[in-house]
Amino acid sequence: MTPDDFPRVPLGFFPTPIEALPRLGAELGIELSIKRDDYSGFGGGGNKVRKLEFLMAEALADGVEVIITTGGHQSNHARMVAAAACKFGMKAVLVLRGNPPAEYQGNLLLDRLFGAELEFLEPTAYFTQVDPRMEAHAAAARERGQKAQIIPLGGANATGALGYVRAVAEMDAQLRVAGQAAPDVIVVPAGSGGTLAGLHVGARQYWPGTRVIGISVSRDAAWFQQRISSMAADCARLLGWDQAWSPADILIEDGFVGPGYGMPSEGGVAAIHRMARTEGVLLDPVYTGKAVDGLAVLCRNGAIPPGSRVVFVHCGGSPALYPFAKTLVEA
Ligand SMILES: *Cc1c(COP(=O)(O)O)cnc(C)c1O
Repeated sequence: MTPDDFPRVPLGFFPTPIEALPRLGAELGIELSIKRDDYSGFGGGGNKVRKLEFLMAEALADGVEVIITTGGHQSNHARMVAAAACKFGMKAVLVLRGNPPAEYQGNLLLDRLFGAELEFLEPTAYFTQVDPRMEAHAAAARERGQKAQIIPLGGANATGALGYVRAVAEMDAQLRVAGQAAPDVIVVPAGSGGTLAGLHVGARQYWPGTRVIGISVSRDAAWFQQRISSMAADCARLLGWDQAWSPADILIEDGFVGPGYGMPSEGGVAAIHRMARTEGVLLDPVYTGKAVDGLAVLCRNGAIPPGSRVVFVHCGGSPALYPFAKTLVEA
């Protein structure tokens, strides 16, 4: 099978462009292009659109009326779930990590515009409370006679990952038309890991010679290696593809997280400025800035050799620039 054999609701504008970044590429000594999934369009755009095309198709088939998910204050995923709920006449409940904000900015503002119900959990208590709270919202919906579904953090499961298997097939077709070979390396931020898992499955199938490198924005490499090897295997199993990974097959760089998930890093902020000024492309402080910081260091230390053909998968996230305005202009 291929991802096209699974139920999918079209949400985004695909294919997104693959764009050469010759100026930043020259600075890094590589042939750099970006896959512009920040332009996927729906609900403000970003990588979650591809996952939600498959996840929302499941929810629609099941007649779901209340869709529940979680993320950080500036969760792009939660914002796109809220938008998707609007499109299909569902109610969205977002259980977010963080205290109620003084001001609704960035993705929190968009969550409000999309009419989502928000619940805030104190950052430390979050880890033990998030699952019971999501279950409680689902139970409350059922008591009202409504069908509820919980979408996991980041839309990261085997079904969501199909979106990024499809993205590799899409990129493969784009490069063929342009008469170009598969890239040597794909670089992508890793948060919940669903994007990375899908890219591994897709690359194994369509681009077996391509290295896939995830730059962690949260946990350590061992955690991701465990998680991605099993999520990728689950996704391949859905497709009936004979693929397997050991944790060591999953390349993760975990030196670019900075102070923690959702908190800007010095290198990430510098990467935002650098990308904006060399190419006129917007990154964000939670994910893509840290990932481009990692990409630059891997080029500098030779882990990505000079002259490599590299595709950076731009996962979106620019709404999260605005709440960090102060940090970004003081840098
Ligand atoms: C969610 C997200 C990521 C990480 O994707 P995962 O599939 O959760 O690993 C990267 N960048 C942006 C902008 C995101 O919103």
